[in-house]
Amino acid sequence: MTPEEFRRIGHKLIDWIADYRARIDEFPVMSQSEPGSIRASLPTTPPEVGESLDASLLEDLEHIILPGVTHWNHPNFFAYFPSNASLASVLGDLLSTGLGAQGMSWQTSPAATELEEVVVDWLRQLVGLSENFVGVIHDTASTANLVALLCARERMTNYAQTRGGLQAEQTPLTVYTSSESHSSVEKAALLAGFGRVNVRAIETDDEHAMRADALESAINSDRESGLHPCAVVATIGTTPTTALDPLDKIAQIARSHNLWLHVDAALAGAAMILPECRYMWAGIESADSLVWNPHKWLGVAFDCSVYYVRDPQHLIRVMSTNPSYLQTGSDGQVKNFRDWGIPLGRRFRALKLWLLIRSSGAEGLRDRLRRDLKNAQWLREQVDTTPNWERVAPVPLQTVCVRYVPPGMSPDEVDAHTLDWVSRINRSGKAYLTPAKLKGRWMVRVSIGAELTEHHHIEALWLLMRQEAERHSLRSDSKL
Ligand SMILES: *Cc1c(COP(=O)(O)O)cnc(C)c1O
Repeated sequence: MTPEEFRRIGHKLIDWIADYRARIDEFPVMSQSEPGSIRASLPTTPPEVGESLDASLLEDLEHIILPGVTHWNHPNFFAYFPSNASLASVLGDLLSTGLGAQGMSWQTSPAATELEEVVVDWLRQLVGLSENFVGVIHDTASTANLVALLCARERMTNYAQTRGGLQAEQTPLTVYTSSESHSSVEKAALLAGFGRVNVRAIETDDEHAMRADALESAINSDRESGLHPCAVVATIGTTPTTALDPLDKIAQIARSHNLWLHVDAALAGAAMILPECRYMWAGIESADSLVWNPHKWLGVAFDCSVYYVRDPQHLIRVMSTNPSYLQTGSDGQVKNFRDWGIPLGRRFRALKLWLLIRSSGAEGLRDRLRRDLKNAQWLREQVDTTPNWERVAPVPLQTVCVRYVPPGMSPDEVDAHTLDWVSRINRSGKAYLTPAKLKGRWMVRVSIGAELTEHHHIEALWLLMRQEAERHSLRSDSKL
């Protein structure tokens, strides 16, 4: 493709994306396509001869791709978590790809490294972290959680990787996290070689947050059994209910037992741009590492996860390999972000953060998050004051967790009914919600915060939820 063709087709494509965003609320939120239907409308073998994209591309997007898209930026998207919103960051993503630069070392594109240093530091200031933290952009929180546990492992073993690795350690290392923590934490512990038998899922309290006393006894009991407690992963904003682990207490325990403290605030980190929310992670300054995802509620296009550490030299020592073909003359004076994470190749992700922050300003970002918090509180009030509706968790952030419990239904029947009404809403295309299990029982998460979601969308959603949950009798054929 020549630059001229790119310009012509690119203009059309930008128009198409702008139109898509402008009419996004006309689509069913959750894709209505049947398994295999998209595949069936595509050729099974690759084209032998190139074709002009002018004619066919937009047509195919409209008829093949769009039906198979679930619209995450639809104002009635209340599933999983808000994500991928801001068009300013879409432009940044386009730029990153258009420049086609590799940011593995400073020299391979100095702007990629230096802009990343600057915007990650902007974010540090925006969430009120001290200068003791230095950050880097990773793809996802899952990666950052793995990196954190690798750093914990190497600190506790005094760099076992330079000797026989974990395989040569005499004493098994243990990891602690709450039973409500994200699946990526356990996955990280397994991938980092700790072994499932050495991962402790600490029980939670009535508000689904980690019990600090249970953490302390688990550590003590492991010590008495001759194990080596290594790391605790606290979650600020758990995935099922946005529960807040008591970070202050956990930090004290981590300090007194000399454990690595990693904080997973993937969703909730965005809220820390609001001073009134920072009580939620009081104690954060004691963390050794923390991660949050600007690609969630803050509105940056996927993928963009920021990982902060107190001791970058330790991170570099764990992550760097430094073969001769990657060495450059400027290595002593600059950051080479390839040594701050797992992949060597790095996209110029800072651009999308830069464009989002510049176009919204801190004030614009704060206003939007405050709007969403207010909408969540409004929905919480409706649930709290409507008969037979239960709110199953506190609402510190933008997620409201509910259950409809008609009189006389057994818990099993309520489970079936919950799955039934939520799947009816999802299949209708009018809104999209996520059912999840909490302490063994189904509930429904209403995750607010798509960029286009205004108060009237929440009002309409509440009406729809009441209709579907209250008016329909129990059916046994519920499907997700
Ligand atoms: C979303 C989320 C994750 C996973 O995020 P990815 O960036 O998709 O890996 C991990 N932890 C928590 C608490 C989350 O909310």
